[in-house]
Amino acid sequence: MKRKLRMGMVGGGPGAFIGEVHRKAARLDGKIEVAAGAFDIDPVKSRQMGEELKLAPSRVYGNYQEMLAAEAVLPANERIDFVSVTTPNNWHFPIAKAALETGFHVMCEKPMTMTVAEAMELKKVVEKSGKVFGLMHTYPGYPMVKLAKDLVKQGKLGKIRRVVISYVQGWLAKAIEKDGQMQASWRTDPKQSGAGGCVGDIGTHAANLAEYITGSRITDICADLNSFVEGRLLDDDGNCLLRMENGIRGVMYCSQIAVSEENNLSIWVYGTEGGIEWHQVNPNQLVVKSIGKATEIWERGSDYVNNCSKAAARSSRIPAGHPEGYLEAFANHYSNFADTVLAKEAGEAPDALMLDFPGVDDGIEGMVFIGKVVESAKSGQKWIKL
Ligand code: NAD
Repeated sequence: MKRKLRMGMVGGGPGAFIGEVHRKAARLDGKIEVAAGAFDIDPVKSRQMGEELKLAPSRVYGNYQEMLAAEAVLPANERIDFVSVTTPNNWHFPIAKAALETGFHVMCEKPMTMTVAEAMELKKVVEKSGKVFGLMHTYPGYPMVKLAKDLVKQGKLGKIRRVVISYVQGWLAKAIEKDGQMQASWRTDPKQSGAGGCVGDIGTHAANLAEYITGSRITDICADLNSFVEGRLLDDDGNCLLRMENGIRGVMYCSQIAVSEENNLSIWVYGTEGGIEWHQVNPNQLVVKSIGKATEIWERGSDYVNNCSKAAARSSRIPAGHPEGYLEAFANHYSNFADTVLAKEAGEAPDALMLDFPGVDDGIEGMVFIGKVVESAKSGQKWIKL
């Protein structure tokens, strides 16, 4: 099938954050076009967004139900191929489920659903539909994160023992939700955000990153969550001890009240022979450590990186020294997702490199993680008073 895939977006209306990132990233490699959308909870704003995007008015809808029903009866060479879900969390499950059941592939924002039960149900829907489902956990989309995973897989660090992850932001240090700030308002409301605040919003990214790089799952948690801002119903900060498969031990801390921090995500992984560290603020470099040797800084796009990791090479567009970043990480997921859809539609089996994007199982793990962190934080178990 030699054509662009057609995307129908839900969310991403005027003033929204991540919808525009998805639109730019999806189009970056020329494999996808934005063909339709129900962009806003307010139908008037949805049409306004459609005009800004120069879409045909007939392809801009007042809500997602209208979009699915109308697109499903368009000729096959016009109708959308997949739906991109970029709404607040409470809408992910109903929209993704309806889109799959109508016969569309889905790319969905995280956290995947509001509850573990919904996540399990969505997996069944994905399986029954036979459609492709992608979950936008951004950070495995970075080439140097893919390199880190491959170095671990190739045994370059020896047996992995220790993971440390910090993900800190400061934008929720004050109660800006009380002034109606769009992104803060729904994130601090359990009915729209789910059981976790900071842990659901950015903790799930951190957990997903640790599992992606190590290839080992989190099995046990001891967590402490805080709501520092008075009156806030959900956590805005937390610490977590992790036990992972294969004897790995970890520490994670996440915060959205760490004043002046922007999107400061870092991970350190240590094995018996070496270690790596990666910092999202400097994503083109991976720090690589080996016992008895000088610490090295590996640069994205260089031959030695590309020779070591096919996944890093495939997800890198321009030579070393010319930075790639956030948009490209999203684009890498979209590119692999598109290749997987196209392979399936051509009746071919997608290869492992194409399938390197998060999916429904990552979504279930994310929901279990949120639930267990909240449960652990409430339980008080494990702490001993001095
Ligand atoms: P936002 O508040 O900026 O935008 C949400 C948009 O969705 C708005 O335009 C709103 O009108 C629209 N919307 C709400 N309900 C709708 C419905 N039923 N139908 C159509 N449109 C609807 O939110 P945001 O910050 O862009 O976050 C959106 C989602 O993206 C969240 O789930 C969030 O967790 C996720 N997110 C992911 C990343 C990442 O790195 N992957 C980063 C930021 C946000």
